[in-house]
Amino acid sequence: MMPIDKEKLIKRFVSYVTIDTESDPESNTTPSTEKQWVLAHKLVEELKEMGMSNVTIDDNAYIMATLPSNVDYDVPAIGFISHFDTTPDFTGKDVKPQIIENYDGKDIILNAEEDIVLSPAYFEDLLQYKGQTIITTDGTTLLGADDKAGITEIMEAMKYLLAHPEIEHGDIKVGFTPDEEIGRGAHKFDVEKFGAEWAYTMDGSQIGELEYENFNAAGAVVTIKGKIVHPGYAKGKMVNSMYIAQDYINSLPRLETPEHTSDREGFFHLYQMNGKVEETKLQYIIRDHDKEHFEARKAIMQQVANDLNEQLEQIAITVDVKDQYFNMREHIEPVMHIVDIAKEAMETLGIQPLIKPIRGGTDGSQLSFMGLPCPNIFAGGHNFHGRYEYVPVESMMKAVQVIVTVAELTAKRYI
Ligand SMILES: [Zn+2]
Repeated sequence: MMPIDKEKLIKRFVSYVTIDTESDPESNTTPSTEKQWVLAHKLVEELKEMGMSNVTIDDNAYIMATLPSNVDYDVPAIGFISHFDTTPDFTGKDVKPQIIENYDGKDIILNAEEDIVLSPAYFEDLLQYKGQTIITTDGTTLLGADDKAGITEIMEAMKYLLAHPEIEHGDIKVGFTPDEEIGRGAHKFDVEKFGAEWAYTMDGSQIGELEYENFNAAGAVVTIKGKIVHPGYAKGKMVNSMYIAQDYINSLPRLETPEHTSDREGFFHLYQMNGKVEETKLQYIIRDHDKEHFEARKAIMQQVANDLNEQLEQIAITVDVKDQYFNMREHIEPVMHIVDIAKEAMETLGIQPLIKPIRGGTDGSQLSFMGLPCPNIFAGGHNFHGRYEYVPVESMMKAVQVIVTVAELTAKRYI
């Protein structure tokens, strides 16, 4: 079976996660933080050095490269995409990866001084990786396996294909993006320049994950107007917007919220409220995999406002709903072979495919709507966006093999 150099893979991964690339939602530039350029330039150099063709980086730090086809028949160009920024939710500065070889299934002390422990009693998934090599944080930062694991895997896979010209494949495109974690990774992605017929983001979590469905998403701002009058003379005059807000909140289904839903169940999520007598603002997000249910949820938010306005005999409540992103499924289903190839690649490698809807969005969903159908494949990490993030090296090695096998199977399909 395909031998992947474990030590070199670890070394590459460590060299990426020790470069701070935290993105910043407050910034208007792309990349959102200057420091993302450091890793971006390094990646460009490495792509050139290993012998990739058409290596480019644009003014917004989007990196693209090509591994040219080595067959004499037409195969559609396919792409692999990862992001090099890390989330602003938790610090990514001074990451000190710890490498635990032959994991024994017990607690991993991340930081003895601060008593930070990564325990399988809480994170049961750890037990799947007994006997493997696990990379963790030192408990004070995130790790950045999201998504430097994906970048490492794509790099190692390209290196492997370059070293093994006997493996037949069509054009393979590589794309590395900034600012995925602040929802902008796809925004300035030049789909036409990329030139792939379809692609895969290597940005999923545990081994086997394969995703081509995500939420439909909208944000809603509910504004409630009241009337302020001196409390001593308020009878029959004061309208307290906060009480109306309370009625509004209680009119939405209390169990259709993130803390009460899973799998394919959608929700309304009230994530912020600011109120005074005169005005209260409620900020919601609305999520549902099903397009009809999604539209119905948006309509309910308006209907509740209409009903309360009627009772109050005035327009006290206005609802402003804005769509954010949509389920990529509608763009994947017409080209279902792109999921089948990934699934077959995993099965060939003895990996059990875990196909499930994402309870969130991905860059791939945006790219799918921009004309580049783009399912998501596991990168191997767990507990993203915090100090308990970890990645089993064996999962990363499997991801490298999945990329190579997807390239191989795609070419075979078009002989
Ligand atoms: Zn990610």
